[in-house]
Amino acid sequence: MSDLLTCDVLVVGAGPAGSLAARTAACRGVTVLLAERRQQVGVPVRCAEFVPLPVRKYIDLTDPALVAQGVKAMRTFIAGAPGRESLFPGAMIRRERFDQELARQAAAAGAKLRTGLQVYGRTPEGVRARAAGREVFIRCRVIVGADGPSSQVGRWMGQNPGPCLAAAQVSCELTAPLDHTRVYFQPDIFGGYGWVFPKGGRANVGVGLTAGRSRDVGKSLAGFWRQRLEEGLVQGPARPAGGGLVPVGGLRDLWQGDMILAGDAAGTCQPISGAGVGNALISGELAGAAAAAAVRQGSRAPLEGYREELRALLGPSLSRAAAKREGMLRDWNGGDFNRLIKRNWIAFKEYFR
Ligand SMILES: Cc1cc2nc3c(=O)[nH]c(=O)nc-3n(C[C@H](O)[C@H](O)[C@H](O)COP(=O)(O)OP(=O)(O)OC[C@H]3O[C@@H](n4cnc5c(N)ncnc54)[C@H](O)[C@@H]3O)c2cc1C
Repeated sequence: MSDLLTCDVLVVGAGPAGSLAARTAACRGVTVLLAERRQQVGVPVRCAEFVPLPVRKYIDLTDPALVAQGVKAMRTFIAGAPGRESLFPGAMIRRERFDQELARQAAAAGAKLRTGLQVYGRTPEGVRARAAGREVFIRCRVIVGADGPSSQVGRWMGQNPGPCLAAAQVSCELTAPLDHTRVYFQPDIFGGYGWVFPKGGRANVGVGLTAGRSRDVGKSLAGFWRQRLEEGLVQGPARPAGGGLVPVGGLRDLWQGDMILAGDAAGTCQPISGAGVGNALISGELAGAAAAAAVRQGSRAPLEGYREELRALLGPSLSRAAAKREGMLRDWNGGDFNRLIKRNWIAFKEYFR
């Protein structure tokens, strides 16, 4: 026998996309179950923790409980040489608390948050899940898949996970505070980049590499961190600070039957920069509104409408980035590295030509 749960909207995954979807749908008066397989929302953190300023539309970026420091600019380095400083304001968040606050807001809006609940199977009548070794059966009318880059809901829709960057990160002490993020392109960090993102007296230091080279990610990170030590930017021991997959294939198919996808599950992560929190929030809000409308109207038209709306909103910029990424990989070892990066990195005007 399994436990039975019923709701209008099942949201799978309490990351930024899922919590926003749950909060938005609950605010529109439908019943929402927000299922999260982790025991604690947001833990462990798998993020370099920079978000751009527009994210403040969704959450208070002045709250010191959620934000470690503000950031004014981004400095890009190409093959060791300073390339450019660009105005790129934002915040270094405390990602676990950021995710927990969004989930709390979803619950405050009326969504039922269940942690430790892993969704794993689909039948015509509903969804199978497990919690603490017990089988759970969920009856719902709409499913929002906000379950990250290896989305289970996406697989139910017949989609395999797309291309990803493999990323790894350490946290270490800065020798002096920084008011900007630092991004390093080097030929040895194949198809990706290294970063130093400041967090008060410490920094997240990481690398993301094109998958296929993913087994090299630990070695690449060790080399990158040593270079930053020699540069005098960081000091002291490094402690592991999470890693993971960054989907870089661009938008996937977003709707099928009673299911829609949001956030990394939908491929909203920017294929060149790997930034995904902002677009996860945008897509989560739209997905939550569409799911609630579908329930209230007893129609799937709003789910199809969500697909069209998100494609129109994010499709052009994500397609451009995905195409840039393909070109960048093709030419990575092909000659003028400086020119290659300028053509393909968002800090340079050449990117937008
Ligand atoms: C190392 C690294 C660094 C990054 N740095 C940045 C950065 O600095 N800035 C930025 O904007 N983006 C960054 N990103 C990308 C960003 O973290 C993601 O784009 C963002 O988390 C996407 O949010 P989401 O809600 O779609 O998915 P997630 O945050 O991945 O949330 C998905 C949730 O679904 C849950 N889940 C999965 N499967 C199931 C299931 N079967 N049942 C129930 N629950 C399930 C997971 O446990 C998880 O909580 C980084 C990513 C990585 C890996």
